[in-house]
Amino acid sequence: MARVLDGTAIAAEIKAEVRAEVDRLALQGIRPGLAAVLVGHVPASEIYVRSKVKTCEALGLFSELITPPETVTTEEMLALVHELNARQDIDGILIQLPLPAQVQAKLLLEAVSPDKDVDGFHPVSVGRLQTGQPGLVPCTAAGIIEILKRSQLPIAGQNAVVVGRSDIVGKPTAILLLAENATVTVCHSRTRDLPSFTRRADILVVAIGKPALVTADMVKPGVTILDAGINRVTDRAEFDRYFAGDARREELFLQKGSTIVGDVHPNAFALAGAYTPVPGGIGPLTIAMLMANTVRAAKLRRGLPV
Ligand code: NDP
Repeated sequence: MARVLDGTAIAAEIKAEVRAEVDRLALQGIRPGLAAVLVGHVPASEIYVRSKVKTCEALGLFSELITPPETVTTEEMLALVHELNARQDIDGILIQLPLPAQVQAKLLLEAVSPDKDVDGFHPVSVGRLQTGQPGLVPCTAAGIIEILKRSQLPIAGQNAVVVGRSDIVGKPTAILLLAENATVTVCHSRTRDLPSFTRRADILVVAIGKPALVTADMVKPGVTILDAGINRVTDRAEFDRYFAGDARREELFLQKGSTIVGDVHPNAFALAGAYTPVPGGIGPLTIAMLMANTVRAAKLRRGLPV
């Protein structure tokens, strides 16, 4: 029977540690602060950002939600980022993506001070990660490593295969696994014969944004699967292809009219030694790691040990 890696429980553990650290820093007069910038009205972004701000409040961090209008210019956004870079009460700056087309996202992300780059997207953060220097690591990738470590799953010497090479998930996860001494293979949309690579994995990370693409015939029995995919399913026939026979899931699907499937087909989980479910696996770690990154940024900026 495959072991379920409960991301919700692990995220709760991390958030409790963040809360304790926030209380310790308060004794030194320090309150880590996060500025969340949300442009316009993208419903999914609004939900994400509000839950980030709410989590800050719950853990005792300072947070500020800044909501420029949809029509904001690159120059206005740059001025805002420079102001936030200079503010002493702000340790982390989060610019929720996507941005409207007229805003040059790359320019903006590079204007964020690397010391406040809690998303870990700045080239300086990427360089620090690559060279093993202390810095800020993209939250989902950091969360994947936390799940493995906190579940006492070995990484060193394991064959780790990462499917997906985005700057946000795939690449940083591969670098972190390498730093933990795994033997890492990175696959992508141009990989020839993907199953021949995935079948060799002891640790299989999948972050591609394609519903249930990795199936049972593509994995080795006993593998540890980390599925970052978040794909909404609303079609009944599609639901049946993934979840036929799963009564609990069906009940929720019928109630809500949708469910979420990862990038891995549930039939592959049945063969795994351990796996992160979708939902409730990697997803909850992302906000927990954002909170941990904000506290880490507050300490790094003040020269405190992390
Ligand atoms: P991107 O679209 O940025 O990257 C997808 C990657 O998958 C690319 O490298 C692409 O290859 C590769 N890919 C696409 N199709 C295939 C295929 N058929 N075979 C092999 N590789 C393929 O996605 P993200 O990394 O941002 O996100 C991936 C998934 O993770 C999504 O479902 C997203 O919703 C989810 N996600 C979840 C988060 C969370 O849990 N909180 C946070 C961020 C993302 P190529 O480079 O060649 O195009």
